[in-house]
Amino acid sequence: MTDISSDIRALYQETILDHYKHPRNFGKLESANRKAEGYNPLCGDKMVLYLEMKEDIIQAVRFEASGCAISTASASLMTEMLVGKTKGQAQALADEFHDLLMGKGEGKNLDKLIVLSGVKDYPVRIKCAILAWHALTAALKNENKVVTTE
Ligand code: ZN
Repeated sequence: MTDISSDIRALYQETILDHYKHPRNFGKLESANRKAEGYNPLCGDKMVLYLEMKEDIIQAVRFEASGCAISTASASLMTEMLVGKTKGQAQALADEFHDLLMGKGEGKNLDKLIVLSGVKDYPVRIKCAILAWHALTAALKNENKVVTTE
C-alpha cells in the first residue's frame, strides 16, 4: 500500500539520485573570480565551488565534488538557483535552506531544494546537505579558504 507521503518521498529520492548521477554545473569555472573549498570530515565529502561575480550579481557558478549523494545533489540543486541572484539574495537562500534543515520554516522560496527537506530527520546527513552552502557563504564573503562542517 502506498500513501501520498511515500509517493512524495519516492519522487524526492528520484530527484536526489538524478542530481547525484548527473550533477548540473559540474566542473571547473575558468572565469571564476571567487572560489571556496568545503570539506565534511564526518562523511568525507569534498567540494570546490566557483563563482563568477560582476559587482554584486552572480554571473556563473560551477562546482567540483567527490562525496555522497546528498552532498552532491545539494550542490547541484544549489547551483541551479544562483545565477542572476545578488549576494544578499544568495545568502538569504542559504539561510532559508539552513532553517529548513533545522526543522524551521517551510522553505517556500527553495523551489526544488525542498527535496532535501527529509534530511532534517538524519542529523549526520545535515552536514552533507549543508556543505555546499557553507562553501557558498565563504565564496560570497570572498574568503578563499577551506570551510568544514565541524
Ligand atoms: Zn556526505
